[in-house]
Parts: sequence; structure tokens; C-alpha cells
Amino acid sequence: MRLDMNENPGGLPKDFFEKAVKRITPELLAMYPEQAKLIRRLSSYLGVDISRVTITNGSDDAIKTIFDVFGGPGKTLVSVYPSFEMYRVYAKMFGMKHQIINYGSDFSVSVNDILAAIDADVNIVALLNPNNPIGTVYSRDEAEQIIKKARQCNAVVILDEAYYYFYSTTFIELVKKYDNVILTRTFSKLCSLAGARIGYAVAAPEIIRLMDNARPAYSVNAVAIEFACAILDEPDLITKLIEVEREGREYLIKQLLENGYEYISENGNYVFIKPNGKVKDVYEKLKCSGILVKTYNNDLIKDYVRITTGGIAQMKIFFDRFIKIDSKNNK
Ligand code: PMP
Repeated sequence: MRLDMNENPGGLPKDFFEKAVKRITPELLAMYPEQAKLIRRLSSYLGVDISRVTITNGSDDAIKTIFDVFGGPGKTLVSVYPSFEMYRVYAKMFGMKHQIINYGSDFSVSVNDILAAIDADVNIVALLNPNNPIGTVYSRDEAEQIIKKARQCNAVVILDEAYYYFYSTTFIELVKKYDNVILTRTFSKLCSLAGARIGYAVAAPEIIRLMDNARPAYSVNAVAIEFACAILDEPDLITKLIEVEREGREYLIKQLLENGYEYISENGNYVFIKPNGKVKDVYEKLKCSGILVKTYNNDLIKDYVRITTGGIAQMKIFFDRFIKIDSKNNK
């Protein structure tokens, strides 16, 4: 069981999957993908014009494209650390400077530090709301302050909402208000399509045009488009998936509290747990028992393991194995 990448370990409900898979026909596979179909669907779902939406091969593809368009040698990225690793990877890959805002020892981020780091040399600011792996969030006022400062400096701001649904606040309205904001979302997390690779970006039409020009014509496949449309066609499914994860997370937290564990659980489909034993040891033993969890080298979080949360069934399997392994370790 993979609990290390924040996918949905339970996947889509079988009945939904069986219905949706009927959309995958030989004719569909024979044709180049009809991207406009999902873009239209998203535009009405999000309440924005179609010119403001592009679909991507996972939201990672959207992020990389933003670096391709707005980054480059001598340019600068501002982002907090620790965070989703690909921001660091792309800054490096595109030869950029990376202005890192470190978390404080109390697991907080200073918005003033972010604002101070944004100057005329900065081209991209990444705001993950909530952040991964530490699920901190920005208030709308904080996000707007950052966006305004970035705009004065001609920088774009990525609003990464990969964990939307687990954290229900969205800043999509800010895309309409500011022309330097690019909101990204994914179908990989709650919507359980990580293997199909499908995400999207919402921004000013000019930014969407630049992003589309920087990408291959058909980078999103027809199967992913059909499944994403099937999910959007069934709002009750999303409500159900939210509920299943919430129950599983509550179950896990209850077990952690009852067993005296220190944990951090904020906003995303993941929980940080501080094991009694050595992190490396717990990681290895969980791996031997068939469960992958995520560990870190970063000083702030090196004593924690991050567990992706899912339904009660998966959380029960995880916790039963974890407590068996970790209860042998001295407190
Ligand atoms: N943003 C964040 C914050 C993430 O955690 C992830 C995946 N872990 C992504 C983007 C990329 O997800 P995907 O490419 O599957 O859409």
C-alpha cells in the first residue's frame, strides 16, 4: 500500500469506474484527444471563460510549463521550504536562482519574509495552498498582498491548489482580479486519477495562450479526459470521496491521540506522525510489511513520517501495522 505520494489509496468506487470505463471505446482511442470537451466542462464548473483554462498532463505539467514560459537562466523563483519538491527541481532545471523562505521552528511561514523576498529580480512566486508536506495555508488577504507585490515586480504567482477538496477554500476569484495569477489543480488526489495524469491551470487568457504555445499539441490523453469529464458529471461522487477520506483521517487521528502520538494534520490528505522509534527504522519495517510512507532529510521534519490518508479500511491496515512496529520502541 502506497501511502507516500498523497494519492487516494482506495481509488474510485468500483461502480463509478465500471460506468466511466464504458466511455473508453476503440473509436475514442483511434482519434486524437478532444481537449476542448474537458476545457468547456471545466469552464462551466469553475465559472470562468474557456479562454482562461488549459488542461495538462497532471498539474506537474502545468507547473513545468509555467517555468518554461516565465523562468529561465538568471531569473528567480520565490517559494517556501520544505514544499513540493518539483518547484526546487524546476528552478534548478531552468537555471534559475531559488529564493527560499524557510519555515520557522514552530512550523509557521512568515508572509512578511515572502513579501520581502519579492523584488524586481523575481519572476515566479509559488504559493501552495495548502502547502505540501506541511499543510499551512494563506489567508485571502495574505495571498492578495503577495500577488500585488509580485505584480509590481512583473512576477507571476502560482496558486497551487492540488489539495483543493481536502481544504475547501479556493482563491479562484483572484485569477479574475489579477492578471499575474496562475491557479493549478489536479485530478490526482481526491479525484483518484494520478495514474491517468490530468490537471489544469486557470489564468488570464494571455498566460493560457503562452502556456499552450509552450506545450506539445496533445499532451493530455483521451482516457484521462473521459474520466475527468465523468467525475465532473457526478458532483455526488466528489462529496462521497471527501467524506470517505475525512472519516479515514479522523479514525487515524483518534488512534494517534489514544496512543499518545505527536502528529500534525492540517488541510491536506496527509498526516505527519512522530514515531517513538527511529524514523528510518519505522520506514524500513513498514516497507517490509508492504506499506510505503514518506520521510524527509529536512531538519524541521526529519523526525516525522508522512502518511497519506484514505478511507477507514486503509487507515486501519496502516495503523495496525504501525503500532505493532512502533510499540516495540521505547518512549
Ligand atoms: N502540487 C502539489 C502541491 C503536489 O503535492 C503535487 C503532487 N504530489 C502536485 C502539484 C503534482 O501532482 P500531479 O502532477 O499528479 O497533478
